[in-house]
Amino acid sequence: MAEIMIKVPFHKPYIAEEEIAGVVDTLKSGWLTMGPKTQQFEEAFRNHIGAKYAVVMNSCTACLHLSLRALDLKEGDEVIIPTFTFASTGGVITYFKATPILVDVERETGNINVDQIERKITKRTKAIIPVHFGGQPCDMDEISELARSNHIAVIEDAAHALPATYKDMKIGTISDVTCFSFYATKTLTTGEGGMATTRNSEWAENMKRLRLHGISGDAWDRYSREGAWFYEVVDAGYKYNITDIQASIGIAQLKKIDEMMAMRSSIAEKYTQAFKDYKEIITPTVKNDRSSSWHLYPIILDIDRIRITRNQFIDELNKANIGTSVHFIPLHRHPFYHKSYGYNPNGFPNAEWLYGRTISLPIYPGMKEEEIYHVIENVSAICSKWKN
Ligand SMILES: *Cc1c(COP(=O)(O)O)cnc(C)c1O
Repeated sequence: MAEIMIKVPFHKPYIAEEEIAGVVDTLKSGWLTMGPKTQQFEEAFRNHIGAKYAVVMNSCTACLHLSLRALDLKEGDEVIIPTFTFASTGGVITYFKATPILVDVERETGNINVDQIERKITKRTKAIIPVHFGGQPCDMDEISELARSNHIAVIEDAAHALPATYKDMKIGTISDVTCFSFYATKTLTTGEGGMATTRNSEWAENMKRLRLHGISGDAWDRYSREGAWFYEVVDAGYKYNITDIQASIGIAQLKKIDEMMAMRSSIAEKYTQAFKDYKEIITPTVKNDRSSSWHLYPIILDIDRIRITRNQFIDELNKANIGTSVHFIPLHRHPFYHKSYGYNPNGFPNAEWLYGRTISLPIYPGMKEEEIYHVIENVSAICSKWKN
């Protein structure tokens, strides 16, 4: 019997003719860097979210950085973040010689634990950066209330959470600033890119200035007016702008954001339905007052019910040509955080519990039925083969 070779990568970007046409149009227009398309993308995004201001940059990391600049983070200040996150969330805090205060997460969601936040608030706490793990929003009411009563800012790391909702509010409309990522594997991509939304006009202006050398007014503003060669540097800024080439990809992607969301959601449903009788794995649950973007579909191995380790499970999936990933290696496990702040696994039992058990399965728009079925079949077969 001839077997058809199915290969399922961990991720595939969902790029079609609209994105390609947009890029070609930009290339032919004669204006390549930040300009009219960038402004159009910001405007479309702002409208889509229902945010007051939207500031696009070349990464979510840049957005997080400039959010902390906007709130005037200083050396010696503290920012509370979950340990179960990507390098960016902590890295940006160190730019200021401020201290990332890592806290543990909930086992059920991988999201920051509100009680843990409360315990770590001090006089030096300037901000909390909740991370919506996998696309499921954190407990924003409780976090907002804690922040309000302690005069602390909230900057959401929503790198995974486009589009997601919390109690009927769109992520991007709740906190002081929300930062989205348009990295290649994220739910909307421009190759690289990020967007900060805020309702604070001063902060929006500040971020716009700092993303381009601290110059007042954007490049296209300066150059499009004939003979307008004058500019002033009013602050110590950065080179964080995107190009119109990237923006044209973003404009096309944003138009199909709901379509892409529906496809991821349907894959998640199929996985959850298919795995419900397999006691060896725990599937992700979403709390009933919020919706996930389903950026990730992380399963948790019940390692007491299975005779192989998480890494062996990944190897088995690899043999079946299925790409996976692990989200996240907690920050406290990285040498930098251990050496600089003395963090170690003892302080974060839930993140450790998750880290040893979790596997992110492929979930991306355009995933074919036979690819979804291939994942289901192989995950199920590995569970059956190795169960206790
Ligand atoms: C991807 C990611 C980021 C960084 O996004 P970039 O656009 O690559 O800077 C930040 N936080 C989390 C949780 C991420 O997954």
